[in-house]
Amino acid sequence: MVKRKVLDKRYIYLRDGQKCFYCGKPLKPGQMTLDHYEPRSEGGTDDYFNLVSCCRLCNKYKKNRIPVDKEKIHLELFHRAWKDKKIIWAVKGIGKKESQDIIDQIGSVHSRGQLSFARGYKITLYIRDNVVTGMDGDRMSKG
Ligand SMILES: [Zn+2]
Repeated sequence: MVKRKVLDKRYIYLRDGQKCFYCGKPLKPGQMTLDHYEPRSEGGTDDYFNLVSCCRLCNKYKKNRIPVDKEKIHLELFHRAWKDKKIIWAVKGIGKKESQDIIDQIGSVHSRGQLSFARGYKITLYIRDNVVTGMDGDRMSKG
């Protein structure tokens, strides 16, 4: 069992350039709010790839809207979080190099009820709370 890490709000703040993800307004740390890019009410998770820095005004107006570029943003932020070592690999029997090869193949990320699915060619990773907890598929395949 991998222990869940405390959510690193400062990481998100720095990753997003100390600005609001939506309107680009510079934010002091105390002004930043966290926004679920895909709203929780629509199945969005607490993973780093679904959390962005947000000013209070944008947070107020965004409410439960689902951004049209959700899939693109999830994929970008997923790869970024992996690169920044914010996603923990917990699938047994797979070493560092191989896990990197698998992550490199991931081309989409979807979420449903606090569980996320990262998919590549013939492969699916299961992610919960920023931890890769399982994998299905043929990992030797290269798309
Ligand atoms: Zn804003």
